[in-house]
Amino acid sequence: SLQLSYPALLRQSTAWLAGEWVGADSGAKIAVTNPANGDLIAEVPRMGRAETERAINAAAVAHKEWRALTAKARSATLKRWFALIMQHQEDLARLLTAEQGKPLGEARGEIAYGASFIEWFAEEAKRVYGEVIPAPLGDRRLMVLKQPIGVTAAITPWNFPNAMITRKVGPALAAGCAMIVKPAGQTPLSALALAVLAEEAGIPGGVFQVVTGDAREIGDVLCASPVVAKLSFTGSTATGRILMRQSADTVKKLSLELGGNAPFIVFDDADLDAAVEGAIASKYRNAGQTCVCANRLFVQDGVFDAFAQKLAARVATLQVGDGFGEGVTQGPLIDEAALAKVESHVADAVAKGAKLVVGGKRHALGGTFFEPTVLADVSPESMIFREETFGPVAPLFRFKSDDEVVELANRTEFGLASYFYSRDIGRIWRVAEALEYGMVGVNTGLISNEVAPFGGVKQSGLGREGSHHGIDEYLEIKYVCMAGL
Ligand code: ADP
Repeated sequence: SLQLSYPALLRQSTAWLAGEWVGADSGAKIAVTNPANGDLIAEVPRMGRAETERAINAAAVAHKEWRALTAKARSATLKRWFALIMQHQEDLARLLTAEQGKPLGEARGEIAYGASFIEWFAEEAKRVYGEVIPAPLGDRRLMVLKQPIGVTAAITPWNFPNAMITRKVGPALAAGCAMIVKPAGQTPLSALALAVLAEEAGIPGGVFQVVTGDAREIGDVLCASPVVAKLSFTGSTATGRILMRQSADTVKKLSLELGGNAPFIVFDDADLDAAVEGAIASKYRNAGQTCVCANRLFVQDGVFDAFAQKLAARVATLQVGDGFGEGVTQGPLIDEAALAKVESHVADAVAKGAKLVVGGKRHALGGTFFEPTVLADVSPESMIFREETFGPVAPLFRFKSDDEVVELANRTEFGLASYFYSRDIGRIWRVAEALEYGMVGVNTGLISNEVAPFGGVKQSGLGREGSHHGIDEYLEIKYVCMAGL
């Protein structure tokens, strides 16, 4: 059972709206279950149109006072929030594992990673500099001010129930905006726990709110509202397209962090052991359920068999089970639909000639557990080449030349993360520049941190999160032209 040393983090049947913990107007609730065993953990309010409108009204009022504070004052409040999150890291991690399924060690990592965005943007809050532009006329002075965009909204996914929220709320609040968060239905508890700590840190009620409930209804209201100036979304490309369309009528500013189809390239001059460890980190983290997980592993002909063998041996050591279990590295998939997609990708690849090296089927534990899998000699005609698998399956594709693999890697509408292993500095530069991706990991499978710009090109999205660029997503540029001096 879920034992918390600070039970206040587990809010029962209320959400954080306009500075109050309230249920849905209708009293309706949504069950939150543990994907490892199906147990009911808690219930959250099934809110909709009316509650969302109230949240928007509260934000419209609250953000005026918040933006009028000095950056230093906002920064101090965000730092208190950061400290509280880290103080409750263990409980937040336990809550996260219970609702999402990832191994507890990974959940602890996510809390620290999530908190790092609050700390970083608390620091960046104080560095929102304007500009003075040399004027083309003598009587003029040209200036650029940066101002908060206003009321903002975030719709977030279940795979990182904490960090996908903090890296939106951190910069929004630092910039002087208010933010309404609609967390994923599967994982609202981590979002509500963040709100508990935001309240304790002294973040005003209407400045950060969490509305749980009907995704479509809440999304409709947020998108249609002219008060909401900006929407930041992380999730599937399909949903991103819907939200983009719905935001057209109010010409909303958008940040979209959508799907990926990450290539992971192993060249023949790579350190193979390092490449195996990188592949494990990139492919099997969160059981393959991250948007930057390696989706297609391209291995050069000369090292293909050696790499496949080493990878399979390492994959065989992964331990599948309940995320709370000792030594477990692979939790369950989020739901039955996720499992069905993984199964279909494996079946399709095998039907098109792929060899099953290890794994390949539902795990003996039952539920939504799947065996960590490696497929060799997969055809680029396979579904797994085109679609994000979002599961623990590594498909190995064989290639011969650099030009060939760059073409294969770029043959997708996605462009989020990419990875490659080589020790040749010329090749490293050429390939890093040729990959049509927002992020490139060279000789590493882990690239994300709060100081670097995270985001995609092509249909993987718009905008960047983290780094000093991340706060610009919540700022407007205002040009002030002073004449007649
Ligand atoms: P996934 O397939 O990973 O669940 P989604 O893109 O469907 O990805 O979900 C990401 C977030 O988008 C979740 O918070 C979900 O509730 C929300 N969502 C899904 N569909 C809609 C929609 N039509 N309008 C607004 N939000 C939506």
